Amino acid sequence: MINLSSKISDLSRVGKVGAKLLKKLGLENIQDLLFYLPFRYDDFSLISKIADLQVGQTTNVRGEIQLIQNKRSFKRRINITEALISDETDSLKIIWFNQPFLAKNLKPGDLVSLAGRVSESQGQLTMISPQYEKVYGADLVHTQGLIPNYHLTEGLTQKQLRYFIKQIITLADGVPEWLPKNIIKKIGLIDLATALKKIHFPKNKEDVEPARRRLAFSELFLRQLKSQMIKKEISERQAISIKFQEAATKDFVGGLPFQLTDDQKKAAWEIIQDLGKARPMSRLLEGDVGSGKTVVAAMAMLNVVINKKRAALMAPTEILAEQHFNSLNNLFKNSEFKIGLLTGTKKIKDVNEFDIIVGTHAIIQKKVNIENLALAIVDEQHRFGVNQRQQIIDFNKKDDSVPHFLSLTATPIPRSLALAIYGDLDLSIIKTLPKNRKPIITKLVKETERQKAYNFIREQIKSGRQIFVICPLIDESDNLETKSVKAEHKRLAEEIFPEFKIGLLHGKMKSADKDAVMKSFSNKEMDILVSTSVIEVGIDVPNASVILIEGAERFGLAQLHQFRGRVGRSEHQSYCLLFPSKEENNSDKTMDRLGALEKYNDGFMLAKIDLKMRGAGEIYGDTQSGFPELQIASLFDYELIKKSAEEAAAIIKIDSDLRAHPLLREKLGEWEDKIHLE
Ligand code: ADP
Ligand code: MG
Repeated sequence: MINLSSKISDLSRVGKVGAKLLKKLGLENIQDLLFYLPFRYDDFSLISKIADLQVGQTTNVRGEIQLIQNKRSFKRRINITEALISDETDSLKIIWFNQPFLAKNLKPGDLVSLAGRVSESQGQLTMISPQYEKVYGADLVHTQGLIPNYHLTEGLTQKQLRYFIKQIITLADGVPEWLPKNIIKKIGLIDLATALKKIHFPKNKEDVEPARRRLAFSELFLRQLKSQMIKKEISERQAISIKFQEAATKDFVGGLPFQLTDDQKKAAWEIIQDLGKARPMSRLLEGDVGSGKTVVAAMAMLNVVINKKRAALMAPTEILAEQHFNSLNNLFKNSEFKIGLLTGTKKIKDVNEFDIIVGTHAIIQKKVNIENLALAIVDEQHRFGVNQRQQIIDFNKKDDSVPHFLSLTATPIPRSLALAIYGDLDLSIIKTLPKNRKPIITKLVKETERQKAYNFIREQIKSGRQIFVICPLIDESDNLETKSVKAEHKRLAEEIFPEFKIGLLHGKMKSADKDAVMKSFSNKEMDILVSTSVIEVGIDVPNASVILIEGAERFGLAQLHQFRGRVGRSEHQSYCLLFPSKEENNSDKTMDRLGALEKYNDGFMLAKIDLKMRGAGEIYGDTQSGFPELQIASLFDYELIKKSAEEAAAIIKIDSDLRAHPLLREKLGEWEDKIHLE
């Protein structure tokens, strides 16, 4: 008998290979699979008779296969499967590309259910590349109703994953309800088992929201429990008090090549005051990309070092850590400070030889013992999350003291929301950008204007600027429509810009190689850098003036806004050029969505628009706008965020280590392990 803790490989048709692929997604037992939530639905609830079909409709049709055959198009080098199906009203032409096995799986006489968009080809109604399944009984999983889509890994298909989950969905009834009954009642939530069943296989649109709301609350509640526990713990600990070094701070500011903005000054002052206390600071410094958070952090570090204590600065990637290392060396070039770099690849023998240690989270993960660590700064904290917070608190276990904590984030959320979501942090905000900035000019570019755009880029490079090109995927095989970095790099280097030096950067490269590429781009040894989204966070190359984004519709607006922040970081007028994938695949809706980037320059506003425009079919999460812990809840679940904070605080107040709530404690542990892996 299969139960919640059974191995996934015990399921029918999973096998060794399937189990290995599922493990890549972090799925090992049945329970994992139940909690692997879809991120989107295809809406195939409309069922049509063939005679009623209209061009542009997305619908489901059912019929008998009359004929099916493979053709080869030599010109386009693709395989085409053509079929004709009919119901009692009419017949319809179907075309699939590069799936020759279909002609083996489907035979004339088979009854099939097809779902997709109706188009017109040579004056005839046609369905191109529809989803299909044979009709045996009444239970259609892939082509009728709201069809869940899951994040996949190479080698695994939506159909397989759906089939596996469909087999075990009733086991959801055995999942223990861990949320206290009184909370469920008070907030008005559905129970966990029902929520799981509805989120995977909703009967209709009305099923989705209550399920999402319940699962979103669970997620927010666990996060709040954790941050309230941290808050409680910190309130009982000591910190090293750092005396304000007025003269040295003024000297430092006076030596900068620019004037600090008022917001920078105010933020720095709030931080310096916190550092003076013997209670640990817990502060979030929020400022949009390019607002100049680094120099504020540097002022805090300066005060720590002159007090003969140590400071650590952690970044989410090696590239960023190295960049911080360089910019701190530059900012402190007139001081005697010793700055060390510690990452997965750059080791330090004795961290205590340095005043400032810059690195990735290798700093807190390896058992490095930094004595007299008075200040821990985390850049782009959303990449670390609440769990790493705990690690920093546990960092120096020797005495009762905890380093002051400063977190830097570019996630531009309003104060009220930030306070609700980061209940345990105080807040400093840099609102205005430095004065020398010209607003970035953003343009949605049509395929027909591609050459023009390339000419423009050529001129920019000739006048000394550098260019980013962003592509959504690494390998060509992932998806035929979108540009892959490797192919695009080759194309640009060989066909379009043979006269320029072009670099390549993606997440699957070794970190040493990534570093080398970034460094040489920063040093102007390359004119163009073709990259995947690894470039997204924090990279500072002020000389770059154009960012060209391929397959732009594949990214969230908030993420595109982050990309855009890679340029416009100096006095040079900068440009963001958005290229959607092949135009016929881009609906008006997509174009409207991307168009918002031309109009707005406010990341929060963009995230909001994105959520609205994505509509009911897309459910999920804010992993893109900077909260990897929020798989299903969104930043705009403001009421839920507030309520989850209240309920969590009420529990922690009387039961701060959850001793009286064993089930909650267990769940929190599981949740921490899970986000820890990500
Ligand atoms: P972010 O907030 O995105 O981390 P950075 O700290 O990397 O931004 O700063 C972006 C760029 O702006 C850097 O090159 C930095 O030297 C510069 N900068 C910071 N503050 C100012 C200022 N007040 N005036 C002009 N340039 C500034
Ligand atoms: Mg930064």
